Amino acid sequence: MTSTVTALFREDFYLSTCEASVTAILEDGGIELDQTCFYATSGGQPGDTGFLEREDGSRIPIMNTRHGATKDVIVHVPADGNARPAVGEKLVLHIDWPRRYRLMRMHTACHLLSVVCPYPITGAAVGEEESRVDFDMSETIDKDEVTAALMKLVEANHPVYVQWITDEDLAANPGIVKSKNVRPPIGMGRVSLVCIGESSSIDSQPCGGTHVSETQEVGAIHIAKIEKKGKENRRFRIRFGAAENPAAL
Ligand SMILES: [Zn+2]
Repeated sequence: MTSTVTALFREDFYLSTCEASVTAILEDGGIELDQTCFYATSGGQPGDTGFLEREDGSRIPIMNTRHGATKDVIVHVPADGNARPAVGEKLVLHIDWPRRYRLMRMHTACHLLSVVCPYPITGAAVGEEESRVDFDMSETIDKDEVTAALMKLVEANHPVYVQWITDEDLAANPGIVKSKNVRPPIGMGRVSLVCIGESSSIDSQPCGGTHVSETQEVGAIHIAKIEKKGKENRRFRIRFGAAENPAAL
């Protein structure tokens, strides 16, 4: 039996620690809690890692966080060979914040890329070192030009914020969904719309992931590679840092 968890990361992307009580221990050792700041793998963004601190100060390392049968279920996956907490036990949760923050910066960079390249998205994976976004497009595009356009958005320091809309609002405005294959986070009655720029002047896109609150936080990024994946598909790889060999401008 599982109970509904309060997903604190949906309300505050910068929450790195919180208290919680154990509500269930699954057969495979997975830990369910009454509330959590651990993001569960979804929409191309990996789940959080970190540790759960017990009252005696000992730590239970968490290797991954995933959803259960539905998005209302969040399972914290402990490292093998650790003591299991008891149902009802109170814990202090700590996510690996440096890792999560890199994922937030990368995830936001993926949104900026979808602004620079306004083509339908067929796939995306956010990573700590590198992210990839696949577009349904046949045009050839120069990666240094894309990098320059991305950095312009980063340096303009646009605000990034969430607006909650209803599933009905989304159904009435299907045009705001850029992903062809990734289902928007519907089914909870409300959908988070990630907006960039004052009054969404730059972009708005349904997304359940975690993002930084100003584009400047993304920092230096560049397009490392654009791969041709079939006639009408291009895979963009985003990496942190400045481009190694920027084209002479
Ligand atoms: Zn997002």
